[in-house]
Amino acid sequence: MRLNELRAGQSALIECVGGEGTLRQHFLDMGVIPGAEVTMIKLAPMGDPMELRIHGYELTLRLADAEKIGIRPVEKKAVPEKGREERKASDHPGLGEEGKFHPKGTGDPLPEGTLLTFALVGNQNSGKTTLFNQLTGSNQHVGNFPGVTVDRKDGVIRRHPDTLITDLPGIYSLAPYTAEEIVSRNFILQEKPHCIINIVDASNIERNLYLTMQLMELEIPMVLALNMMDEVRSNGGSVRVNEMEEILGLPVVPISAAKNEGVEELVEHAIHIARYQEQPARQDFCDKEDYGGAVHRCLHGIMHLIEDHARAAGLPVRFAATRLIDGDPEVESALQLQQNEKEMIEHIIVQMEEERGLDRNAAMADMRFSFIRKLCAKTVVKPHESREYRRSRRIDEVLTGRWTAIPIFLAVISLVIWLSIDVLGAPLQDLLDSGIQWLGQETDTVLERWGVAPAVRSLVVDGIFGGVGTVVSFVPIIIILFFFLSLLEDSGYMARVAFVSDKLLRHLGLTGRSIVPLLIGFGCSVPAVMSTRTLPSAHDRRLTIMLTPFMSCSAKIPIYAFFTVAFFPGHGGLVLVVLYLSAILVGILVALLSKKIHPDREPSPFVMELPNYRMPGAKNVAMLLWDKTKDFLQRAFTVIFVASIIIWFLQSFDFRLQMVDGEDSMLAQVAGLVAPVFAPLGLGDWRIVTALISGFLAKESVVSTMQVLNVTEALTTLTAISMLAFCLLYTPCVAAIAAVRRELGGRLAAWMVIFQCLIAWLVAWLAYLVAGYFIG
Ligand code: GDP
Ligand code: MG
Repeated sequence: MRLNELRAGQSALIECVGGEGTLRQHFLDMGVIPGAEVTMIKLAPMGDPMELRIHGYELTLRLADAEKIGIRPVEKKAVPEKGREERKASDHPGLGEEGKFHPKGTGDPLPEGTLLTFALVGNQNSGKTTLFNQLTGSNQHVGNFPGVTVDRKDGVIRRHPDTLITDLPGIYSLAPYTAEEIVSRNFILQEKPHCIINIVDASNIERNLYLTMQLMELEIPMVLALNMMDEVRSNGGSVRVNEMEEILGLPVVPISAAKNEGVEELVEHAIHIARYQEQPARQDFCDKEDYGGAVHRCLHGIMHLIEDHARAAGLPVRFAATRLIDGDPEVESALQLQQNEKEMIEHIIVQMEEERGLDRNAAMADMRFSFIRKLCAKTVVKPHESREYRRSRRIDEVLTGRWTAIPIFLAVISLVIWLSIDVLGAPLQDLLDSGIQWLGQETDTVLERWGVAPAVRSLVVDGIFGGVGTVVSFVPIIIILFFFLSLLEDSGYMARVAFVSDKLLRHLGLTGRSIVPLLIGFGCSVPAVMSTRTLPSAHDRRLTIMLTPFMSCSAKIPIYAFFTVAFFPGHGGLVLVVLYLSAILVGILVALLSKKIHPDREPSPFVMELPNYRMPGAKNVAMLLWDKTKDFLQRAFTVIFVASIIIWFLQSFDFRLQMVDGEDSMLAQVAGLVAPVFAPLGLGDWRIVTALISGFLAKESVVSTMQVLNVTEALTTLTAISMLAFCLLYTPCVAAIAAVRRELGGRLAAWMVIFQCLIAWLVAWLAYLVAGYFIG
């Protein structure tokens, strides 16, 4: 039987895992391995993907992928679960572990005053951000990892000035398949932090420990932070920390990042471990006894073979060996093996596969999970079905329910956009705008009194204050949209939204996760582009950003309203619907085209965890808002500001640098030059072109420029149609372009401007022809 045939509520054991490459490794890393028990929970409302429970957590899987996984019925008498018996609690020994792993205070500490570097590594939703914020308070710096747009956060641990902690992206394994995994792995291997702080969600411990196993192979000092212990305890679970420490050979500290419990102790351990450079005392997780020790012998054989190569390449030996078995091309080339060595290794692996009865990747994943199972049987008292889990299931009955999911989702997102833009954003924006205008006017009065030249006054008032106004006017919308977004994200709802909409977006070569940035695009492209950060693959990010301009942003509504009033009175609703739908349609065509052009591009897998719903932490939300606003202001300010001043300059001067009024300005002259290009659209009037150019700054300016230049008289119903079509699709405003430039780089941003203008021209031309046929 295949996994996709499983009915809701049924359980089965996994027999074999098919598929290949990225996706298969990802299955295995997420615990979809032969022998694991899965329970089918339900299908998404559109019938795909499915929601499964495995290793005590919830996972999404597309039906097409599930078809590659073979299952068999669960045996009636499963092995009785061990480790249930309670033991007496013993105190956690604390710093130094009673000298178990090292004679306390001896050893070879790093010299006083060394800057101790830490890497915070863990699965998504394990509480990394929460812990990071607890550890660093406000001493943090947000940036990018060089070369990739993956958020990088560095900070100093509070009260420990000579520390530096880096929050790495959430990952499930060290297999280099997603940008995040590569970033994290390279960071650890190349920058060699003094200590890894591995954060593990104790309420989902089996899956989380998988990464821990891989991290321990890296020969880097490490502490394990068992997070969410508050939830585990309140549900009757516990972890025998001392025994776990003994088995793993590294300090294990139970914490609750959200409640700030155990964090002090964690810091003490981490600093101690880093200073004394104590590596995990154990790396050898392959059990000699397991299945005749096939995996064990294979691994150790290869380790001996490649030891010198690994040392020469600066790679930890066991890590290199496991990655070699998994077939990691990067590690393979780094090791510079000779042909006969490669053959020998291949031979060893093939023999292991035969003896073990599993292929190499499955055998490795299985080796790790068997160790974890044994470890947990000895040290973890599993909580009874947790309150949080039951609550999540109840909430999910509605939020991902067959009939309720989509209406609720549409309602939520409309509410978010409406609240952000109309209720809160626009008034705040107006307030800020009038504040800045007032300030500009006051300044102007002062300047006039001083007898400052009119050109300079215009620069200050129209150029600088106008520019600042444009930048600042985006801030309220960004803050408010991100406030709601972070509520949705942190609570766990976003993962459900992705689950519900995956089927739709997959046709475009995207995954369900892109739905949120796209919908935010109807509000404002700037936060939409910024929010693509949460997408898992670089390809998804790029395509989603390229599609956001097709989600007609709210700043274009005044343009639509202006034309409706002038040319289609009484048909406002119809005009809006037609416009929005056509833009989406063009976007879909573009996405399909891109899929045609790059047929080799593997669709990113949609194997995603559905975390329990949790209350978002106020501190996390506040930090995020601060980050995003700062980010926007820092990066966008320069671009928007400079663009505003350039447009002001072009608008106010002629080519002899005399200050002039609209008609004779450089802008008008340039517009006159460009106008013939727009003639086929019926828009060959310089005033129209001027209005369009000013729309590059902000879409609202199109209307104001048209009013100033009295454009309406140059338009007919027919040209109004082509103008609407052009405005609908042409280049996003400079703020959006700045955001795109930040995510994708200058070349793609420039390309986007050109591409959008071409498409807009084409569509407007078609609209002009078709409408001309009917209107005559
Ligand atoms: P990240 O994805 O690893 O950065 O995880 P976050 O820090 O965003 O945390 C995910 C969710 O878990 C958030 O809703 C947090 O409020 C919540 N959370 C984090 N730590 C704890 C904890 O110790 N106990 C509980 N109950 N919730 C926590
Ligand atoms: Mg986070």
